[in-house]
Amino acid sequence: MRIVIKVGSHVLTEGGSIAKERMFSLVELVADLKKNAYEVILVSSGAVAAGYTQLKLDRSSVANKQALAAIGQPFLLKMYQEKFAHFDLLCSQVLFSADVFDSEKHITHAKVAIDTLLENGVVPIINENDTVSVEELVFGDNDRLSAHVAHYFDASMLIILSDIDAFYDKDPNQYVDAKRRAVVHDISEEELNAVHTPNNEFATGGIVTKLQSADFLMKHGREMFLASGFDLSDVRAFLIDHKHCGGTLFKV
Ligand code: ADP
Repeated sequence: MRIVIKVGSHVLTEGGSIAKERMFSLVELVADLKKNAYEVILVSSGAVAAGYTQLKLDRSSVANKQALAAIGQPFLLKMYQEKFAHFDLLCSQVLFSADVFDSEKHITHAKVAIDTLLENGVVPIINENDTVSVEELVFGDNDRLSAHVAHYFDASMLIILSDIDAFYDKDPNQYVDAKRRAVVHDISEEELNAVHTPNNEFATGGIVTKLQSADFLMKHGREMFLASGFDLSDVRAFLIDHKHCGGTLFKV
């Protein structure tokens, strides 16, 4: 089964640096999933944060974020390479601009490359090419990109690993009585157009871009699972033990 795992910048960073232990746990999860016959495509943010560890540019300007992404992307990949090597796995860098998905020709070319990497046991690590394309850098933090990746490269499911462990009936960071929604079959227009609520200076999407991604995937006959990226036990249970303990499954 082919899946896409998207990890946000909030999960991958800590105090302005890359959160190496969390990255290691993520890589370990991917290695275990591969042993369980999953084909895994990773969509990873974190380039701006990795760049910031090298050069302290003011991150409030988009131009500086583009520059930091260009500096940080090779550092980010180097860290992934080292961690995947620990499990005797090879990973690879695939950078997209959002308009790749506007052209059937580009999608076909990209799919050939992704299929070939997966056939050879290599983990593709996809990110937006933030130096030429700023859509997800400004808004989305790869939530929408990962939904397109899942759909156009024929994955059954997108897994979003977030700073929040599920989708709730209201923002759990504001309301103590918020209740987890375990399974969501459809998303209302009101929810899709709600105010954007990013929770962190690196996060640019909030829950709304996640709901938009879930809506897009459900309309295309695919599923999405939203779970914690800080504690991977729910996603492990769901994918490896086939037990739905925590997290939200979006499914028609
Ligand atoms: P990430 O960077 O991990 O991808 P974001 O911080 O961008 O995630 O978005 C998740 C945040 O969205 C949560 O921390 C939470 O404060 C907020 N949020 C708003 N409404 C909800 C809701 N109904 N359910 C879950 N989270 C919500």
